[in-house]
Amino acid sequence: MDHSRSRTLFAQAQKTIPGGVNSPARAFKSVGGDPVFIARGNGASMFDADGNAYLDFVGSWGPLILGHRHPAVIDYLRQALEIGVSFGAPTAREIEIAELIAEIVPCVEMVRLVNSGTEATMSALRVARGFTGRELTVKFIGNYHGHVDSLLVKAGSGLATLGISDSGGVPAGFANTTIALPYNSVEAVEQCFAERGGEIAAVILEPVVGNMGCIPPKDGYLQALRDITAKHGTVLIFDEVMTGFRVALGGAQERYGVTPDMVTLGKIIGGGLPVGAYGGRREIMEKVAPLGPVYQAGTLSGNPLAVAGGLATLRILKDLPAIYDSLERKTTNFANGVEAAARELGVPLTINRVGSMITFFFHPGPVVDWETSEKSDTARFAKFFRGMLERGVYLPCSQFEAAFLSDALTDDDIDVAISAAREALAEVIA
Ligand SMILES: *Cc1c(COP(=O)(O)O)cnc(C)c1O
Repeated sequence: MDHSRSRTLFAQAQKTIPGGVNSPARAFKSVGGDPVFIARGNGASMFDADGNAYLDFVGSWGPLILGHRHPAVIDYLRQALEIGVSFGAPTAREIEIAELIAEIVPCVEMVRLVNSGTEATMSALRVARGFTGRELTVKFIGNYHGHVDSLLVKAGSGLATLGISDSGGVPAGFANTTIALPYNSVEAVEQCFAERGGEIAAVILEPVVGNMGCIPPKDGYLQALRDITAKHGTVLIFDEVMTGFRVALGGAQERYGVTPDMVTLGKIIGGGLPVGAYGGRREIMEKVAPLGPVYQAGTLSGNPLAVAGGLATLRILKDLPAIYDSLERKTTNFANGVEAAARELGVPLTINRVGSMITFFFHPGPVVDWETSEKSDTARFAKFFRGMLERGVYLPCSQFEAAFLSDALTDDDIDVAISAAREALAEVIA
């Protein structure tokens, strides 16, 4: 593959954009080489500035569950464009999407739209603190909740990949309000609550982690968190920015049958446009201004274009639940194909998968938390990533990120990706 145009663009970008990218993971730092610049996408594919084609297993890091330029989504967006792009005043469409979210997501009685997942988690924590009158938050090592000051503590993927444990510019006083515990350990949470339960406003987690690679919750883990937080009057927040409408229509809370007090949403909820949301029990959400004392606002919140992208996407997902069965089947086939190739070649590989989220850990396994995930052979992953890219398969550019399948990928596309993986794995051990 020729990447000369992308290389030129990257050199130019670095002059005016820090690191040449508008979000760190995109810089390919952990896999080496220069990022490819994308020119356009269609269905399951993306095309770069040099005209190379890729099967897309990233989907803009999750949002594009229907693939690029789904005709119904594009239609909706065109209609929205005709009406006007922003009013800063309420619109009927906002009620439609709020009602749809409340219908789909088990814990949501009321919901507020924001512009990103980061805004959603930042606001949900503020509301949880306002509701409980407490200050501390419990999070889990390797879970990422956006770049919220107080949550950039042991925060997985981006930070892990860049090799920094905590961000610069975060006052100690903010980081101090967060207690980071190992994921998937009920014991650690029990012990923490035995000591400080009465001070803890919220427990926030990725119910299925995507941001240290895909790591599912152990049996009973989510229910145990539900029981402990209920007992101590702590708000349980599922950060479903990634898992919402992804691991099931109603997210991880539907898939695992555990209902939190609050949820944060993003990614799929905007269908590729910038949207986030937080919601939950009425009693808690009634604390949000102008109804209650917890302030939270946004000039572009409920933006008509973003709402149209989200509404179109959510409606398709709700009307065609078979999409989830089909994604499950394709992702299972992908996992099985790559696993068979790895076994034949003798490459120690652990494949974690939940629905259409999947990670190939270069680690003998099992991978259940940050401690195990971190032990993966990232040099091998980088080689694998490069090999796949050169064969036209676009994977997340970090060992510590999940890949996402879209409904646009066909069974043939999966076969192509498995063949590419077989060759790329052979290079990894060559
Ligand atoms: C992506 C992500 C976020 C942050 O969302 P942004 O829109 O990037 O701010 C928060 N939480 C989780 C679980 C995510 O995957």
